[in-house]
Amino acid sequence: MLCDAHNHLHDTRLTPFRAAIRTEMEAAHVERAVVNGTSEAVWEAVAELARTVSGLTSAFGLHPWKAAQRSPSWLDTLRRHLDADPTATVGEIGLDRWIEGHDLDHQRDVFIQQLALAAERNVAATIQCIRAWGALWEVLREQQVPARGFLIHAYGGPAEMVTGFVERGAYFSFSPYFLHPRKTAQRDIFAQIPADRLLVETDAPDLRPPDERNAHPLQSESGEPLNHPANLTVAYAGLAEIRTLAPDALEQLIEENFTRLFPARSGARLHPQPRIQTHP
Ligand SMILES: [Zn+2]
Repeated sequence: MLCDAHNHLHDTRLTPFRAAIRTEMEAAHVERAVVNGTSEAVWEAVAELARTVSGLTSAFGLHPWKAAQRSPSWLDTLRRHLDADPTATVGEIGLDRWIEGHDLDHQRDVFIQQLALAAERNVAATIQCIRAWGALWEVLREQQVPARGFLIHAYGGPAEMVTGFVERGAYFSFSPYFLHPRKTAQRDIFAQIPADRLLVETDAPDLRPPDERNAHPLQSESGEPLNHPANLTVAYAGLAEIRTLAPDALEQLIEENFTRLFPARSGARLHPQPRIQTHP
């Protein structure tokens, strides 16, 4: 089975195609996925998906782009969502200096509060970081992190920081976006990351693969190209090439890593397999 460590399946851009997407995910053997809410406005949609679709793990968080628009009760609402589902995780949270008008101090404050929630509950935290690697390292070095570990999704940081992040408990997810020819440096880093910290993601509907490798072209109703969640197969194939691993061996490795960081309700899969009858 394939496991998507980071997507946004609740995203309204996917809504018109959701039934077909589920069918294509099933055909691609995508059995587990972490659905990341990025603002208070979408947390309920994420909770509803995780309640109704077995195999989905919810992640609730305030994305650094959304940190400034939070309500006074945001932290209580976040706690409530985490309380309601024992397998819920925290994400997508982090630091981002790419977005225009960013206030890093403000982002850091919101990030630290959410990281503390994940640490106190020992649930995974999913982190986004763009152009703020030194600041991220400071936070991760000084603050409590979940003993279970945390995910730096679509890791775009420097090679020399990987070891420090690993020591603090990081996992790193490979995105189909890294198959763009210009992303050589990131592919080289993913060749070196310790095997037991590797994960695979789509970030669907964002971060789509290059057109020549896009197995599931998809457009929003307004004509915007989207990344299809079943493109997880593209990311797996790309990572298998980079690691020179047989597809089966990579699948097994990623499933083990994913299950360690994102334990499910027992046996939960997106598309439950028929049970094989055994006789005593
Ligand atoms: Zn994301």
